[in-house]
Amino acid sequence: MKKKQRNIDSMKVDTRLDPALRPVTLDEFVGQNKIKEQLSITIEAAKMREDVLDHILFCGPPGLGKTTLAYIMANMMHAGIKTTSGPVIDKPGDLAGLLTCLQDGDVLFIDEIHRLNHVVEEYLYSAMEDGVIDILIDKGPSARSIKLNLSRFTLIGATTRTGLLTAPLRSRFGMICHLDYYQTGDLQKIASRSAGILGLSIDEGGALEIAKRSRGTARVTNNLLKRVRDYALVKGHSLITQEVSEQALEMLNVDHKGLDEMDKKILKVIIENYSGGPVGINTLSVAVSEEPDTIEEVYEPFLILAGFLKRTPAGRCVTEAAWKHLGFKHGGADYPLFEQMKS
Ligand code: ADP
Repeated sequence: MKKKQRNIDSMKVDTRLDPALRPVTLDEFVGQNKIKEQLSITIEAAKMREDVLDHILFCGPPGLGKTTLAYIMANMMHAGIKTTSGPVIDKPGDLAGLLTCLQDGDVLFIDEIHRLNHVVEEYLYSAMEDGVIDILIDKGPSARSIKLNLSRFTLIGATTRTGLLTAPLRSRFGMICHLDYYQTGDLQKIASRSAGILGLSIDEGGALEIAKRSRGTARVTNNLLKRVRDYALVKGHSLITQEVSEQALEMLNVDHKGLDEMDKKILKVIIENYSGGPVGINTLSVAVSEEPDTIEEVYEPFLILAGFLKRTPAGRCVTEAAWKHLGFKHGGADYPLFEQMKS
């Protein structure tokens, strides 16, 4: 469990160190217009009712802005926010500790909420629904349960795997928002906005090139922007143009469809070692030396969306487009392993 978490967290490090890039209001948050509209109505209504926000669940692949939205909601409600993550809350006592120090109206943000352990999850139900938590203190004959009344709070959960969330937990959220991958135009705006914050000069073409290679993900846009910035700095370019972005990203092995080295490794292994699939997730995980969870949560959704991979009951298969994109002839004899086996 810890290793899995580390793997996914490691993909977050870059922007976590750069809180300045996080939008702090819904107006600054680019794209996801339907969700923004729903959220802004919820905020307005809660303010009019002088009530706290309903519990909200954000779902979607990593890097689309779930954490950012949780902070925005707290900020716009002028409420405090405490953040934690599912696997970190080990025992009901940990949860009680977090909940009892919340003040009226505060937000508790639980990232990767599908990884909460089941015992803790049960305790969360009464906290979300009735604002109380029953805690067992002492052991043996003197064990007794005490009921703690909690301040009114909003739970905001984020998950990359909605399917793994139990039905009772899901049903306790008043609002469930599914975040979509971003369109290139939105990512271009994100690149320009972040460049402005970082004090970089970038033209439209430079931002567009970064956006096109960002695999639909805001976090990737920010990460690529920073790598392009470094390249421009070292090569002495004062303005990031399309050409500069292109050169930098080619050097980083991010191709024009946004596939990075791991994406290409996954597709290549399926083509070269398994003739295009089907191959099971565990076999694939060993072959590319990556955790199955990371493959399923981080790489696969984009490869499926981009039309390079499909999930079948028998396992993962690459599509015709993947064979072409990587320069292999489908079903032909021109792929490296085949050549090696022949010679
Ligand atoms: P998640 O919690 O879904 O993994 P985050 O909220 O941590 O994603 O977002 C990653 C980074 O991407 C943030 O630091 C933020 O700067 C940026 N970001 C995400 N969504 C947007 C957006 N819609 N507009 C501008 N920046 C965004």
